[in-house]
Amino acid sequence: MELEVLELEGDTLRLLVRGAHTPFVNALRRIMIAEVPCMAVEVVSIVENSSVLDDEVLAHRIGLVPLKMDPRIIEEEPDKVVRLELVAEAKGETITVYSGDMKSDSPDVAPLYPNIPIVKLAPGQRIYLIAKARLGTGSEHARWQPVSVAAHKYLPVIRVDVSRCTLCGKCIEICPKKIFDRTDSALKVRNVLACTLCKDCVDVCPLDPPAIDVSWEEGSYVMYVESTGVLPPDFILKQATKVLERKLEEFESKLKEVLAGGEA
Ligand code: SF4
Ligand code: SF4
Repeated sequence: MELEVLELEGDTLRLLVRGAHTPFVNALRRIMIAEVPCMAVEVVSIVENSSVLDDEVLAHRIGLVPLKMDPRIIEEEPDKVVRLELVAEAKGETITVYSGDMKSDSPDVAPLYPNIPIVKLAPGQRIYLIAKARLGTGSEHARWQPVSVAAHKYLPVIRVDVSRCTLCGKCIEICPKKIFDRTDSALKVRNVLACTLCKDCVDVCPLDPPAIDVSWEEGSYVMYVESTGVLPPDFILKQATKVLERKLEEFESKLKEVLAGGEA
């Protein structure tokens, strides 16, 4: 298997994988979505709420605030519970309460974005609530999902029969990803990785058979991971490999047990 990092910047990771099988790449994708843990609020205790929002709606909004976290919590403190307190009161004028007003009792966990509006308070209104966050996974609820996108596609292969291509330019016009360029003498493929394999360029080619062919490289994939920001995307992928490894180890150990039982 060969890996090449195409992009690792901010919350996004693009990885070229060669020599893998679809079920393997798909297993990692699904684990990133549903089984890599991150912190989110589980319980909200509303002590006081005179805002226009019902307690349930307020709690729901708090639960969906993404929390950035120290990745070491996953291995070192998997049972950690973090308390976030929110106290706000409008005195002279209407105010907006933001996610950044939630005060965490741990420097390792805090709202990812401080500017998510939670509720507006009119003069005289007040809220006081205590939220408790813990590690969880996307399989429990989407608020514990650390990725907004985890996807892969086959590695595209585009071949142009330059001896037959008339340089009519129809494929250049129709390509939604602007993959092609035309020089005086040839059609050039610029950025094959951006190709979506839609095959519009093949369909539009007036030649029969078309002078262009779009296919993909067997066993090669472009993986795309976009973190919600709560954990780095490369860390999320590494965690997914650990989860998969643990599952295989468990499977192997159970298999040994049942096979040994059969022999007894
Ligand atoms: S398959 Fe679609 S995206 Fe790819 S080169 Fe052809 S038109 Fe462009
Ligand atoms: S549509 Fe066909 S003939 Fe026209 S430029 Fe593209 S490959 Fe060449």
